[in-house]
Amino acid sequence: MEEFNSTAFPTISGDLMSDHFQFSDQDSLPKPDVEILTSNGLRIPAHTGILALVSPVLENVIERPPKHRSSEKTIPIHGVPCEAVSAFIQFLYSSRCSEEELEKYGIHLLALSHVYLVPQLKHRCSKAVGQRLTIENVVDVLQLARLCDSPDLYLKCMRMLSSNFKAVEKTEGWKFMHENDPFLELEILQFIDEAESRKMRARRHREEQRLYMELSEAMECLEHICTEGCTTVGPCDLEPSKKRDPCDKFSICEGLQLLIKHFAICKNRVNGKCSRCKRMWQLLRLHSSICDQTDSCRVPLCRQFKLKMQLEKKGVETLWRLLVKKVASARAMSSLSLPKRKREEPRETMHDHGIRNFRL
Ligand SMILES: [Zn+2]
Ligand SMILES: [Zn+2]
Ligand SMILES: [Zn+2]
Repeated sequence: MEEFNSTAFPTISGDLMSDHFQFSDQDSLPKPDVEILTSNGLRIPAHTGILALVSPVLENVIERPPKHRSSEKTIPIHGVPCEAVSAFIQFLYSSRCSEEELEKYGIHLLALSHVYLVPQLKHRCSKAVGQRLTIENVVDVLQLARLCDSPDLYLKCMRMLSSNFKAVEKTEGWKFMHENDPFLELEILQFIDEAESRKMRARRHREEQRLYMELSEAMECLEHICTEGCTTVGPCDLEPSKKRDPCDKFSICEGLQLLIKHFAICKNRVNGKCSRCKRMWQLLRLHSSICDQTDSCRVPLCRQFKLKMQLEKKGVETLWRLLVKKVASARAMSSLSLPKRKREEPRETMHDHGIRNFRL
């Protein structure tokens, strides 16, 4: 092998070089056999064995027969500041990179680690750049994340963009991108649009869950009023006792008691003109759909509804069955402190059913 003559080229300052080797035993390393050439003409002596070991891309470059190159062994790394190249080479030797270097050259190191396939450095840079994301640099970093195929950083940028869109729109980065990269602009706007509809779906889901939860609690109250009684309303075959204490869901329970009292005396109940009585009917029907006590249940009309439903089983609307299912599952979950459910939401809403407006 040709003797490498380090005095033939201007080399990078001694300080920088000593940084490269401070983590390795300088005396045990053979003489450098290659030079990394940076864009401002600085040359960093290095060892092909180490470069090839850490970066498969550099390994290819090293093993490629010298066609256009002269006999001197150099590997040019252009397009980034020489300090970034120096920090990159240092990482190849030591697997270390200071916070200061990440702060100053994070984006350059990200690009280098992507191009030269150094995943550990790429991971560190994606994280470091993501932590230093600002309104001002988010569009540029997004473009870089896209070029460098860094999905975590890409997503972080997109999230920042969509929650600070008004401010980002005023930055130079956005204006430049708007002029020059309509595809990326479209991609961003689509992401924001999807994020909005995701938020809306989540909100609708929460509202529906709340409704099912309320209905489930109302079912519990209805059963306990009809079985044990609560404050002023008791089971129909028992005298209401004056000593009854309110239950722990008294706000719902009280509303239900008022509704039951109203239902008992309302003159418009039968002709269907009273919306409060309609609500009561629906609650009683819902109870009957969920109730599994065939003979012992004391909730009024429970058995009658069951019989009626058996007769017209086919006629029960899908929406009603869905509501029953949802309330039954809300009821089952109520003891589990409402864990999040990530199931596909039903397309239908309860709007047309009238029961969405259910409030006791
Ligand atoms: Zn109660
Ligand atoms: Zn009424
Ligand atoms: Zn029942």
